[in-house]
Amino acid sequence: MSASASEQDCVFCAITRGDIPSDRVYSDDQVVAFRDINPQAPAHLLVAPRRHVASIDQLRDDEALLGRVMSVAVRVAQAEDLAESGYRLATNHGRDGAQTVPHLHVHVLGGRALRGRLG
Ligand code: 5GP
Ligand code: ZN
Repeated sequence: MSASASEQDCVFCAITRGDIPSDRVYSDDQVVAFRDINPQAPAHLLVAPRRHVASIDQLRDDEALLGRVMSVAVRVAQAEDLAESGYRLATNHGRDGAQTVPHLHVHVLGGRALRGRLG
């Protein structure tokens, strides 16, 4: 089956395929984690499924993949040694959510005291 237009144009599909280089910290058959190119904290990683899913809003019914992405996000935070000091997991959907890359990803942020409010 040929890739859809959104997959062909998608930067995170290219990253998870390995067509665009990234600083990978984790990879398995379903999920890839890599460092954000424009980090907002000393530790800023992104966890994305290999399958093209536009955002978490489209993953509502796939609890297995949703759980896998969140589980890998926690594993990545622990591997970055963030568990004791703390970290934040965040995912954005759509315009008001300030999503800029339309391929689901969970941000793992830590290494500094994050502001205690969102948005
Ligand atoms: P969003 O705003 O969609 O939640 O987050 C998208 C994130 O992807 C941003 O933090 C941005 O810095 C990151 N990003 C965008 N393009 C690339 C890229 O080509 N490589 C990597 N590693 N991160 C990217
Ligand atoms: Zn994609």
